[in-house]
Amino acid sequence: MSEPSIFTRILTGEIPSEIIAQTDRLFAIRDIAPQAPVHLLVIPKTQEYRDVVALAAGDPALLAELVAFAAQLAEEHCDGQFRLIFNTGAAAGQTVFHVHAHILGGGLAEGTLGG
Ligand code: AMP
Repeated sequence: MSEPSIFTRILTGEIPSEIIAQTDRLFAIRDIAPQAPVHLLVIPKTQEYRDVVALAAGDPALLAELVAFAAQLAEEHCDGQFRLIFNTGAAAGQTVFHVHAHILGGGLAEGTLGG
């Protein structure tokens, strides 16, 4: 059994953070270090999958749920227009190995790819 990730510790209330929305299998929080006017994280409640590649292979239905949930949150927070980013691997900037998607939106610069 691996140690609880920072996101699991938020989910269980061990680390204080506002859970802004949740479903049976997913929850969303605001990123503590926002890179855009709207910067949310959508996270499976299970920490079984370390990244989006493992999630897609292990539970593709949960990945589809995550994308639909992200779209719903983006409707509420940034007019339904958003970037959905999965950092995958330390060299790509992943720091928490409990799969999560970044929703970035709200006044992003034109013509750029990412923050
Ligand atoms: P990544 O670098 O893609 O693994 O994303 C991890 C994200 O988690 C970073 O954008 C961090 O700012 C964010 N983060 C770390 N700790 C917290 C926390 N306690 N509450 C909210 N977001 C956090």
